[in-house]
Amino acid sequence: MHKIRAEYIWVDGQKPTAKLRSKTKILDKPVVALQELPEWSFDGSSTQQAETKHSDRLLRPVFYIPDPIRGGNDILVLCEVFNPDGTPHASNTRAYLRQVAARTQDQEPWFGIEQEYTLFQGSRPLGWPDNGFPAPQGGYYCGVGCDEVFGLQLIEAHTKACLEAGLTIAGTNAEVMPAQWEFQVGPVGALEVSDQLWLARWMLYRMGVDFNISATLYPKPVKGDWNGAGAHTNFSTKAMRAEGGMKVIEEACQKLSKFHKEHIEVYGAHNEERLTGLHETSSMHTFSYGVSNRAASVRIPLPTVQNNRGYLEDRRPAANMDPYQVCAALLDTICGDGFKGAAVYAK
Ligand code: ADP
Ligand code: MN
Ligand code: MN
Ligand code: MN
Repeated sequence: MHKIRAEYIWVDGQKPTAKLRSKTKILDKPVVALQELPEWSFDGSSTQQAETKHSDRLLRPVFYIPDPIRGGNDILVLCEVFNPDGTPHASNTRAYLRQVAARTQDQEPWFGIEQEYTLFQGSRPLGWPDNGFPAPQGGYYCGVGCDEVFGLQLIEAHTKACLEAGLTIAGTNAEVMPAQWEFQVGPVGALEVSDQLWLARWMLYRMGVDFNISATLYPKPVKGDWNGAGAHTNFSTKAMRAEGGMKVIEEACQKLSKFHKEHIEVYGAHNEERLTGLHETSSMHTFSYGVSNRAASVRIPLPTVQNNRGYLEDRRPAANMDPYQVCAALLDTICGDGFKGAAVYAK
């Protein structure tokens, strides 16, 4: 059989948090270059991207990887969404990031995103008792053994699949709340980290199907004394990574401090439930930065101070953030001519 399956994947128009959609296209032969992938269309009225009367929207492939789940020559194809007249659809936040990334590429910005998420089975976090709660937090972070970590089989399979697909996964760990996990992508450029993150999320959802486990990116999946889920965004430029880069990192923190409220608007919905100042978070209402400080908005890792160069960690983005928006906001603020206003990123 020469025919292959290409899974066309895109971000929909749901508000306040967009979600992934995908459908399968059969192609006549294996694909060896992005340009060979045809455009496709879909019913935008079913994804909050069009009205029923004018419902067709276009899918334009922008990045593809081998499909480690189906195997063979099958592929996963990430797409941008366009209107029939060829303009980017309002929900297409990648289109703006393409522009900012081009404007700032001479500074060689790198991103590393820590994606936290929570596994559920039915309406309960995976492994939690049907009634009541597990033992309080304390022993679960980087825990070992089936009484401490839930869903390890899925995490192992997902990490292996991401690596087989060529994604730049940097690591994984069990989180503070039982059934909560993290994987990191990067450090790579803005478009790369964002595209990879969306595909890694897609693979997590898809592989969860085989385990009857669902993953949620909701920033505070369980109310009360349980950690929320974030997407810490680590960032550096060539100047920050060079000798004496610490000064450039401090300047970046100053720039970030001027747009705290505005950044929060593009860092994910329902983040106010998570950024309480408790559970290793900062208050949503004030900006702060500090060395090794996991209660600050922005943390400068200790090795960065010791080496006088390195990167900063923006701890504010929620797990459900759109990396296209977050990366664009950081690039405009730190490397460009300033933050543009939330509407430019969110559309
Ligand atoms: P934490 O201690 O906050 O849990 P992690 O090890 O989970 O840290 O994540 C650190 C992230 O920082 C990784 O995704 C890694 O790729 C990224 N990173 C490392 N160096 C840089 C750099 N110079 N610029 C941007 N990101 C970086
Ligand atoms: Mn981490
Ligand atoms: Mn974490
Ligand atoms: Mn972190």
